[in-house]
Amino acid sequence: MPRLRARDRALLAVERLKAVYRAASELDHKNAFQMLIATILSAQTTDRSVNSVTPALFARYPDAAALAHADPGEIEAIIRPTGFFHVKAKTIIACSKALVERFGGQVPARMEDLVTLPGVGRKTANVVLGVAFGVPGFAVDTHVTRLTRRLGLTKSTDPVKIESEVTKLIPPEEWTGFGLRLILHGRRICVARVPRCPECVLNDFCPSSTVRAKARRRPLTPTRRGVRMAHGRATTAKRPRRPRTGD
Ligand code: SF4
Repeated sequence: MPRLRARDRALLAVERLKAVYRAASELDHKNAFQMLIATILSAQTTDRSVNSVTPALFARYPDAAALAHADPGEIEAIIRPTGFFHVKAKTIIACSKALVERFGGQVPARMEDLVTLPGVGRKTANVVLGVAFGVPGFAVDTHVTRLTRRLGLTKSTDPVKIESEVTKLIPPEEWTGFGLRLILHGRRICVARVPRCPECVLNDFCPSSTVRAKARRRPLTPTRRGVRMAHGRATTAKRPRRPRTGD
């Protein structure tokens, strides 16, 4: 396949990943407050580890008002498995206090408000906006940084720049889903050390694919004249197989 423009690669990646992953966070939550606290706790750990502590945490502290007045030692004991529990306990208590003092105990649904909360950067804010409020947001974490660079959608390593560049390539209604799906794809297939390109649904147009071009050719949709390839040209017939000459 000839090299596609970044916009075409992005749109193709959006569609291909849609067929494989749900646009969902793997953090268990029942409301925006739980999503916010779970996302803060997910720093430097797995969603599984966060999900192992949040049922006890939210049973004891169901809302911002309760968590704002919590004893830090008690919080530390509950969230210990997530690592960095001393800092995280302080952060979620401070964040809850800010919610109570400035937002009536409710999680605000605007980026400019969310990023004023302790422990909340653009990544966390975008996750909460997209998952809890349905407001388009493209969250850039370590997986999204790696994948967008490998897919040639950006050359930057700065999350803010990546967010700005990628959101110019795809429509707003795709931002949240694409970000969430890139995270899942980064965890399962396009892993950091050795990406599993032969299993990847993006391997026929990804500029970083290790799969050889011939093996990557993948029809997108059948047409009346033949098979439409991913780059949009229609072939009129299936290519005859070359006889094997032996290796
Ligand atoms: S083809 Fe390889 S490098 Fe490209 S997105 Fe897939 S796993 Fe990652």
